[in-house]
Amino acid sequence: MSTITTAKKWTCDQCGVTVSRLGGEKVELPASWTSSQEGTFCLLCRRERAAQAALDAAPKDSGLEDRAKLRRAALVEFEVRRRPGHGNGEIAKACRSSVAAVVAARKRLKIPAPQ
Ligand SMILES: [Zn+2]
Repeated sequence: MSTITTAKKWTCDQCGVTVSRLGGEKVELPASWTSSQEGTFCLLCRRERAAQAALDAAPKDSGLEDRAKLRRAALVEFEVRRRPGHGNGEIAKACRSSVAAVVAARKRLKIPAPQ
């Protein structure tokens, strides 16, 4: 995570949103983005991909409600992993979820809340 990558322009491979500077100076990859062999993704698409991965892993006969639940849980887990040092309330807000859901996600991931 310590390598600072710069480019003239970053383009999300999924939604096509771009980050660049006027004048074409190089910019760092935004902290909320990710760039790997799979591609470069903005925060929104990273969340979407996390949710999609959870759904892909779900049994094919899961009902709509189960899938919605899985999706919400995946989003909370994604956010806990991304910002483990943030308070449960903040993370709940970012995911439009509840503190209880964040606490449960931390338990699943074994990532304790900050003191
Ligand atoms: Zn995107």
